[in-house]
This record gives sequence, structure tokens and C-alpha cells, in this order.
Amino acid sequence: MTKIKVLVLSIFTLAAAGVVLFVVISKRPPQYYVRRGIAFGTNVQIAYATKKGNAKVVVDAMFDELERLNEIFNPYVESSELYKLNHSNGKWKEVSPRLLNVIKYSLKFAKYTDDAFDPALGRVVVLWGFNTDDPEKWRLPSPKEISDALKHSGYKNVEIDGNKVRLLNGAWIDLGAIAKGYAVDVLLKMAKLNDPESTGYVDIGGDIGIIGPKYGNKPWKIGVRNPRGDMNDSIAYVYLYKGTIATSGDYERFIIRNGKRYYHIFNPRTGYSPDNFEAITTISTSGILSDAFGTAAMVGGFDKTKKWAKDLGTAYLIVNEKGKVIKSDLWKDYEEP
Ligand code: ADP
Ligand code: MG
Repeated sequence: MTKIKVLVLSIFTLAAAGVVLFVVISKRPPQYYVRRGIAFGTNVQIAYATKKGNAKVVVDAMFDELERLNEIFNPYVESSELYKLNHSNGKWKEVSPRLLNVIKYSLKFAKYTDDAFDPALGRVVVLWGFNTDDPEKWRLPSPKEISDALKHSGYKNVEIDGNKVRLLNGAWIDLGAIAKGYAVDVLLKMAKLNDPESTGYVDIGGDIGIIGPKYGNKPWKIGVRNPRGDMNDSIAYVYLYKGTIATSGDYERFIIRNGKRYYHIFNPRTGYSPDNFEAITTISTSGILSDAFGTAAMVGGFDKTKKWAKDLGTAYLIVNEKGKVIKSDLWKDYEEP
């Protein structure tokens, strides 16, 4: 209804004017406050609308929270809690409840996935150089370097006693495979705590969590990138009212040597990247699970992925090593708005 029609109605039918105006006002979509920026070592975008308080204040607080999380989970800045744990020379070290919880989750997931997932591959990650944003530093290590790094890796070197953690054999924890997903969960909680009815989404480097459906109970449309295309080349779309979605792939941080692609996810048994899939996108109710799942799936391959997904209730879209798209049955439920 146009503004003119509202005006006309309100003049000629005064009694009904309130109703008409109400309908017009309540149908006006709330303004999404959108903020983009670099946080948590990646591109972040948050869209938020609430009738309680000021959306900007909440979103700014979310960005501040990402700074704090980075100061816990980024193992490659000297000030962070995880850096200090990694450099505690095998001594017991008290850690914060958040770091402890995420480490515990990662250890459970490592066992669950028969060691496909491993939160203590820091030495391997650093050796290949994929911890840096500078592609000049990404390199193919020698087999000897890799076998040496593996001797100082693996989650079995992580011991927990109460709120203390000890790292044996010089192992380094790297939570790069789940930290973004965990951060999604933290921000969704913040949004809901402010206002359970609030709506919007958080996108932390492609790990997306839905705060609530778009005004009018409309889903958010999310594209899945073609792993061999550019940023805007989508091979599928899903429509989400809630939940989280994350992608792992071989196309973000990679090098090609002698015609072979090496990238930033590693088979913990070999120290080399697996070649099961080009990418996998996962939908689940939890950000940390969606994130962890994809990384483990890249290593575990198709049969295990299928089994884990059934067990855990996750939906997936795989682009396999031949570029073929495989969607789980659950995934198909999200393809219609
Ligand atoms: P993205 O970096 O795009 O978020 P992932 O969620 O798959 O992709 O995380 C990849 C990161 O996980 C790597 O950069 C590394 O820090 C870590 N990692 C690599 N291999 C493994 C593995 N097998 N298990 C757990 N973490 C891993
Ligand atoms: Mg992951």
C-alpha cells in the first residue's frame, strides 16, 4: 500500500485508520544494522535487527567479543592464551573456561572421527606456512620435515586435569578448524540474550549463523561457492531460518607443486592434505559442529562423512575430487524457501 492510499483511507475512514496504519507500520521491515570488518583474522559481516535497544550497540559489542576471542584462540599472536599454552614447555598450565571447553570439544571430536580431526597439528600447519596470510610463505616441506613435525603433533599429546592443560612432545594446539564456528555460537547467544525475537545473521569468514529469519518469517538465502570458480560463482543455494552453515575446501589456502594441489587441511596420519573432496558445506544447529564436521570430512572421505552425518544429524553438500556434487537427503530440505 502506498503512502497516498494510507492518507486517503485515514481521511475517509477514521475509525479504520488505526488498523490500516498499524498494518502499514508493522509491515515495514525493520532496518538491519549491517557492519562489515576484519575481525578474528577474517572477514566478518553481521546484520542485526531488534526492537529491544539499539542494534548498533549490540553489533559493536559482538565485534569487541571477537577481539577477545582472538586473544584466546589465535595461536599465532604472542599475546594470546593459546600461544602461551603452546609455549609452556610441557608444564601444566591453567586455562580459561572457554579455552578449556573448546579444547575438550576438539578432543571428543578427534576420538569420534577416528583421528581424522586433530586439534594438535600446529607444528604441521606452521611447517607448510598456511598459518600466515602471505602466500609467499606457503611451501612444500620435505618428507623429513613432515615426519619430524608429526613426531611433535597429535591430540594424544594433550592432557587435561581439572582446569589445567599440559602439552607433551612439544605439540602445538591449533583450533583453526573450529574456532570460527565456536565464535558463531558465541555471537548468536549474545544476540538472543539481548532479544530472543531479534533477527539477522553473523558471517565469520564464511561460517554463518542465523540469528533469526528475515522479517515476515522469510529465510536467508545462502549461496555455496563453486570450489573451482570465483567468489560469486555459486553452485547451489539454501534457505535458512535458523542454524549454522560452514564450508571447508581446498581452494582458499593452497599451493600447486608438480601438478598436485596441497592445501591447509591435513591428514593427521601423513601430514599431507587429503584428496577426497574439493569442498564440503555442512548445515547443523551448532556452529562449532558445522565447522568441525567439514574439516573432519575432508580427511575422512565419503563413507565416513555419510555415517557421521547420519549420526549427528548434519546436512551436507560435497563437491568430490572429480567435481561432482553430492547432496545429502537432509540438505535437499533446505533447497526450497
Ligand atoms: P577454514 O580455514 O576455511 O575455516 P577449516 O574449518 O577446514 O577451514 O579449518 C582449517 C584449519 O584447521 C587449518 O588451517 C588448520 O589450522 C586446522 N587443521 C588442519 N587439518 C586439520 C585436521 N585434520 N583436524 C583439525 N584441524 C585441522
Ligand atoms: Mg572447520
